[in-house]
Amino acid sequence: MTAPDTRLAVLLPLPLAGAYDYVAPAGLMAQPGQYVRVPLGNRYLVGIVWDSPSGDVASSRLKPIEATLDLPPMPQVTRRFIDWVAAYTLSPPGAVLKMALSVPEALEPPRSAAAYRWHMVEGVKPTPARQRIQELLADGLARPAPEIAKEAGVGPGAVRDLIRLGALAEAPMAPPRLFQTPDLHLPGAILSPDQRIAADDLRQSEGFSVTLLDGVTGSGKTEVYFEAIAAALQKGRQVLVLLPEIALSAQWLERFKGRFGVAPAVWHSEITPARRRDTWRAVASGEARLVVGARSALFLPYPDLGLIVVDEEHDQAFKQEEGVIYHARDMAVVRAHLGAFPCILASATPSLETAANARQGRYKRLHLAERHGSAELPLIKRIDLRKFPPRRNSWLSEPLVQALGETLKAGEQSLLFLNRRGYAPLTLCRACGYRFQCPNCTAWMVEHRSQRKLVCHHCGHALPPPDACPSCHEKETLVALGPGVERLAEEAVARFPEARVEVMASDLMESPRAIGELVGRMERHEIDILIGTQMVAKGHHFPQLTLVGVVDADLGLEGGDLRAGEKSFQLLWQVAGRAGRAEKPGRVFLQTWQPDHPVMAALASGDIERFLDAEADARNKAGMPPFGRLAGIIVSSPDPAMTARAAHALAYGAPRQDGVDVLGPAPAPLALLRGRHRARLLVKAAHGVKIQTYLRAWLAAVALPKQVRIQVDVDPVSFF
Ligand code: ADP
Ligand code: ZN
Repeated sequence: MTAPDTRLAVLLPLPLAGAYDYVAPAGLMAQPGQYVRVPLGNRYLVGIVWDSPSGDVASSRLKPIEATLDLPPMPQVTRRFIDWVAAYTLSPPGAVLKMALSVPEALEPPRSAAAYRWHMVEGVKPTPARQRIQELLADGLARPAPEIAKEAGVGPGAVRDLIRLGALAEAPMAPPRLFQTPDLHLPGAILSPDQRIAADDLRQSEGFSVTLLDGVTGSGKTEVYFEAIAAALQKGRQVLVLLPEIALSAQWLERFKGRFGVAPAVWHSEITPARRRDTWRAVASGEARLVVGARSALFLPYPDLGLIVVDEEHDQAFKQEEGVIYHARDMAVVRAHLGAFPCILASATPSLETAANARQGRYKRLHLAERHGSAELPLIKRIDLRKFPPRRNSWLSEPLVQALGETLKAGEQSLLFLNRRGYAPLTLCRACGYRFQCPNCTAWMVEHRSQRKLVCHHCGHALPPPDACPSCHEKETLVALGPGVERLAEEAVARFPEARVEVMASDLMESPRAIGELVGRMERHEIDILIGTQMVAKGHHFPQLTLVGVVDADLGLEGGDLRAGEKSFQLLWQVAGRAGRAEKPGRVFLQTWQPDHPVMAALASGDIERFLDAEADARNKAGMPPFGRLAGIIVSSPDPAMTARAAHALAYGAPRQDGVDVLGPAPAPLALLRGRHRARLLVKAAHGVKIQTYLRAWLAAVALPKQVRIQVDVDPVSFF
């Protein structure tokens, strides 16, 4: 018999509708937040004691909790956050919990090697080896057996004998500290008056607030938010800094180390499993005071988080597009609200959402108007490709070639930016017109000449380079159309044989270390012309870089989704910001076929405010975000007809409600992705409509075949 009050809800890291009830056996104490091991089907899983049990299942049929785990309970605020994210994104809470428990090994007790201390016993014959061991251990410290042998200079047998005789007693050894405490006595930068005002404001923030810290690249935003970090650490709180590409942030980590004397705990998908486990536990115990991470770092179980900084807040990398679809910037604000502490959003090109929130007074705004020191903003010039068309199979216009030559001659560095990996985006047969397309996706196969293959950038499908056309079987008729960074490098080398040219693109960099090394070569001026994709746009500071050439400034405007203009502007502005960051002034050239496009005009004038105003105005008129709400619904299945039927059934079942429009279905731009046929619906809602409530009621009422998958994307930023 079990008393009713021993019933507990346990949330499991699985996409189930909610928590399941279990019973606590007599003597087992488990409060909300406790990590417990429970049976499910024929296996055991670790879950978290959640809030009130549902009582749906008769007590007699409930299974018992097997054990509690020796971990600090998951803080209440983390549990509220998981519930909140689940409700907002329409995801099962267990799917969100899974992100918080992404390191199963961390839940097991750490395996520490046994350590030994000297223990006086009678009848141990003293030998020279034994005496050396006794002397070594006279300090009272416990050491692992191999270390004792090594330090005392004796064989392992001598240690084993003493263990057997009881003269070495096993003793618990404190695990080593992996994360050192930041040094808060180191001086920060001497701030300019503007920076000082911003820093003081941030230092004094108490309770929940959101501050947009904006200012041109190089204006010292990082130095300023370092002061806010110092203040939070001084209060004994933990701090989280979210960066869009943490694997690329070696320079940032160095700066942090310079400011606080220690390396922060780093959290992203590329750290080793052992490091992940240690970091997870150090965050949970509070040992790690400062975490720098990618978006998933939001879901770590901080016992006392007191500040979140989102650097480059406009960056799309903060949007997770798979599984639980969420925007880490927005969820950071939610986390700060639940934890009642400040959140800082930093950017040189704030997102329209954040800018609108600042204008409407929901967010505070601190503005840094000038580059620090003598550095000036670079001059941005448009090159009209209609007037200066590049030669056939060449991508650099005469004015840009000339500027590259001048820069080389002056002993300075150049950056050529082209946001396209590989050698050529399309391979085509000159004889029959055949184009190489991915069998699983609506996408061309991209040639990667250095790796000798054609690759689909969506699913990774790869082919060896073909020597004949698969359709007409002609040989030597295949041609590469258009440039990728590898092909651009070919042209740069051909034009400037004396220059040292290197390419930076994610598929060419095997590890964060390789990236760090390339950045190092660039810093030491061992590269004259760096060619890169958006990977080079982020955060790097190269003092000798004085020329930036944007090879295809129109690229981001293709496809014309809602945010194409905003995203293009942000990316190009950021790339432009790499030029002239030190004493030497920088120049930026934009090669464009449409120099009068508002994005190009805004970049050339540098007038961010006006551009944001115009964009905001257009969005406002159309009722688009941030002035209205959107949710994307992606319907997919292995069969095109099934997808079409399901999408239509879904559209047909949409409840009518004032202020809500359901658009579509339409084939998704990627109508085929990884073998699944996709259609999209778009829900457009006026401000004030509870879009989640609407979606939940709708989706719950529609029954679809099992092979059909529905993904909901609340506040979509991409429409692929
Ligand atoms: P942002 O984050 O706005 O791009 P940073 O904080 O990276 O700007 O500053 C750009 C450069 O100027 C960095 O090398 C930084 O160390 C330097 N800098 C900024 N403010 C100061 C200051 N007050 N004193 C000394 N160096 C500064
Ligand atoms: Zn593919």
